[in-house]
Amino acid sequence: MPELKLTSPLQYVKGVGPKKAEALAAMGMNTVRDLLDYYPRHYLDRTNVVAINTLQIDQMATIVGEVKAHGVLHGRGKRYEVILGDASGHIALLWFGGIRYWERLFKKGQVFAATGRVSYFQGMQIVHPDLERLDQDSDQMVHAGRIIPVYPQTSDLNKVGLSSKGLRSVTTYIYDHLSETIVDHLPAKVIAKHSLIDLDTAIRKTHYPDSREQIETCRRRLAFDELLRLQNLVFQHKGYKEATTKQHRYQAPDDVFKGFVADLPFALTSAQQKVTDEIIADLGRDKPMSRLMHGDVGCGKTVVAVLAALHAVRNNLQCAFMAPTEILAEQHYRNWGERLGRVGVKVALLTASIPAARRRRIGEQCAAGEVDLVFGTHALIYDYVSFERLGLVIIDEQHRFGVDQRGRLYAKGADPDLLAMTATPIPRTLALTLYGDLDISTIDVLPPGRQPVRTVWRTSDVRDKVFGYIRDEVRKGGQAYVIYPLIEKSEQMELQNVEDAFAQHSAGLLKDIRVAMVHGRVKAKERDDILDRFRDGEIDALLATTVIEVGIDNPNATLLVIEHAERFGLAQLHQLRGRVGRGKKKSTVVALAQTPISEMARQRLDYFASTTDGFAVAEADLQLRGPGEIFGARQSGLPELRVADLWRDRDYLEATRDLLEKLFARVDTLDSGGKRLYSYLQQSMRNHYVNLGGG
Ligand code: ADP
Ligand code: MG
Repeated sequence: MPELKLTSPLQYVKGVGPKKAEALAAMGMNTVRDLLDYYPRHYLDRTNVVAINTLQIDQMATIVGEVKAHGVLHGRGKRYEVILGDASGHIALLWFGGIRYWERLFKKGQVFAATGRVSYFQGMQIVHPDLERLDQDSDQMVHAGRIIPVYPQTSDLNKVGLSSKGLRSVTTYIYDHLSETIVDHLPAKVIAKHSLIDLDTAIRKTHYPDSREQIETCRRRLAFDELLRLQNLVFQHKGYKEATTKQHRYQAPDDVFKGFVADLPFALTSAQQKVTDEIIADLGRDKPMSRLMHGDVGCGKTVVAVLAALHAVRNNLQCAFMAPTEILAEQHYRNWGERLGRVGVKVALLTASIPAARRRRIGEQCAAGEVDLVFGTHALIYDYVSFERLGLVIIDEQHRFGVDQRGRLYAKGADPDLLAMTATPIPRTLALTLYGDLDISTIDVLPPGRQPVRTVWRTSDVRDKVFGYIRDEVRKGGQAYVIYPLIEKSEQMELQNVEDAFAQHSAGLLKDIRVAMVHGRVKAKERDDILDRFRDGEIDALLATTVIEVGIDNPNATLLVIEHAERFGLAQLHQLRGRVGRGKKKSTVVALAQTPISEMARQRLDYFASTTDGFAVAEADLQLRGPGEIFGARQSGLPELRVADLWRDRDYLEATRDLLEKLFARVDTLDSGGKRLYSYLQQSMRNHYVNLGGG
């Protein structure tokens, strides 16, 4: 029997012919080692299989059942449905793509284990579950108490016979025949310090575990490595920025700047003043600034960013100020354009709904240096926009943009300074990871006179009563928002939608007050007009989708009702809550949830009602989301985590950062273990280089 080495091409592993090898190569797997790094997504054993009739909405579960029926469903979108039944009941499995493949796969009477998150739509269902076909073989293994790894599947792998089972026979073969030990890149001291297991065991046993405890020990070790690589990306990127010297320079704030501050309609809070000072000091350095301004909704980040913009303009630089929605860009322009104009700043607005000819004209003015400060949306990143001397890039609600979008705007200047803002509070440990290459300024004080927003959640059967509060609030001089998850009726989901609700309530519960509706398909001009009238108090209640989630500022709005609150995540609920409580009046949020409510949603809503502290909300959000979803990670441009869980493994965030700091601090005097780790990190950098923060 030939011996297998880590570098052996997969094609020569027994059971892998040219066809399979090709499919694996298409996913970046060429050698034995590559395949060993393709970890199971989860495991199947008797202990984690649950009866279908005990499933709860939102639960991650594995069920085992027989195919009772299967076929294509037509509707708004074509989908493939399989009804899987066990002794207790049945459930639908659904796929929205790869229909031809699924059609051929399923036969009535076959037994499958399916794993995924349970949802509800006219019955319990799991969308895109992971599958494991249980034939005699694997069925016996499960019953014998063996833990079976289930691999992430793609239809390309499935087509060549590399279903989860196919992959398992390959990894088992490798497990039995590999003649080499996987060299550990972590020094023994580090392994001991964090009570990790060695890499060879971690990888082998991940594919062939003896117990559930062992799976977790292996996962922890691999999570440590994954977080180490992640931190390394951030770390090295920061190093790159530190090595750059920018061309432009700033003088100390001048009299025009000081006069502008003195003329603001309010005094800056201590936190705003502190952050303004930090930014001005940072701009004055010869390195490009990379700063994240961080602070809860309504804390007043905009004015600080505007001051940074003014400072840049006073230093003969141009500034681009990008916001994620037209509504928000227009609001900034409208709130600040005139005031800035009075001190000689030439301000423009650039969004997609500005007519093309005019847009081009503004682009030309930016290129000619005739515009000092341009507020805009994604429209700013298109090719027809260029700048003569772009010195400062400001990104509002930066978590709403992809890295590439931020990068494209950034690239319009020569090493410009970057100021990003976010109202999504990020737990500190996480901020260091996701934004470790950014310096962070925090606004931790709200403007004076703010009162905490009272938050309650109710089931939607009390809707009539809640709409009565809207009328009361309006009678007392306040205004209200009602938020809907959808624009119009959908076949896929039976949800409240803003169009039907508007038709119904403006003639019913809300007929005595002035009601309007906005959503993503309302024409820009009409939408602006509605928002203007809402801010001017000519509209009492605004029915809207989440287009108004970020930024909208109407201090007189005192009541926010959220329909289908059970469908929103904590962070989003908190953002929505930020629409009220922006003035001196007492505000209320009523979250309405549709029954039946899952246990998860209930917890989320309880938590939402229990605190208005954005940081606490962010921590809880992280905890409730569970593995896999990292908020802000996609936008930060970091690779997705496969094994690490930012909540469960949060102790490793600091540990790995620490390790890197020590390693890089004595790069020139490393011993052999340190050198091995260093070169491992350099190699993984080359494999995974991602550009962070737009630099
Ligand atoms: P966010 O941080 O969510 O972007 P904004 O910048 O939109 O918050 O500010 C929220 C509201 O607070 C605005 O109406 C703004 O005019 C007001 N505001 C900001 N700073 C102060 C202050 N120092 N005193 C009083 N009101 C302020
Ligand atoms: Mg804002």
